[in-house]
Amino acid sequence: NKPDPLLRVRGLEAWYGESHVLHGIDFDVNAGEVVTLLGRNGAGKTTTMKSIIGVMAKRKGSIRFGGQETIGLGSRHIARLGIGYCPEERGIFSSLSVKENLELPPVVKPGGLSVAEIFSLFPNLEQRLTSQGTKLSGGEQQMLAIGRILRTGANLLLLDEPTEGLAPVIVEQIGHTIASLKQRGFTIILVEQNFRFASTVADRHYVVEQGKVIDMIPNAELEANSDKLHAYLGV
Ligand code: ATP
Repeated sequence: NKPDPLLRVRGLEAWYGESHVLHGIDFDVNAGEVVTLLGRNGAGKTTTMKSIIGVMAKRKGSIRFGGQETIGLGSRHIARLGIGYCPEERGIFSSLSVKENLELPPVVKPGGLSVAEIFSLFPNLEQRLTSQGTKLSGGEQQMLAIGRILRTGANLLLLDEPTEGLAPVIVEQIGHTIASLKQRGFTIILVEQNFRFASTVADRHYVVEQGKVIDMIPNAELEANSDKLHAYLGV
């Protein structure tokens, strides 16, 4: 008997105004897994994340988190259930220091990491304690953005293209961070264009195309499916 998945998405549809962009997304994420959403630009990956956190005004279908249906809930309610979102643009406050950025998030659920625990995960950040958000490198900003959602007590983390625009050495650091978060029991959904990176951190990959999940590839079978994947991603 397999345990129920932590997140179960079925028949998810979403619209921006009149524009229908998700056409029935289906996927599962088990507790403790790292799963990626792969796909071309505009496939619907970000919209899927925005639907899960409840910020898409018009959505339908089913999104069950820990057994609870969330499709009709507001974004604050969903956040309090333990889902944290780190947008592609990272969303940190540029005029605030590292310390202030970490102290700001309302703790939405018991069990959020302390500022000290976040510094133990990201030693670079501690050295930049009083630096303003704008003075950080792209990699430091990304770590701060992840640190902020860890403060909230979320156990499901949605990370939208965390490696985008970062140098290879920093991408590697983000990979280590994701591995250590997985080890601590966090469940992670990653939007990625970089499937080389994805293959170093993920257990499974869902391929999104034109608002649908069209395939699921276990990480161990990624190499064997590389032709198929190149065709999907057009790389
Ligand atoms: P990317 O990597 O480019 O972000 P994606 O797979 O995350 O790609 P989405 O951002 O989810 O794709 O976009 C899905 C579709 O919705 C695209 O056709 C996009 O043009 C459209 N779209 C995205 N944001 C908006 C918006 N704010 N208003 C209207 N249409 C949008």
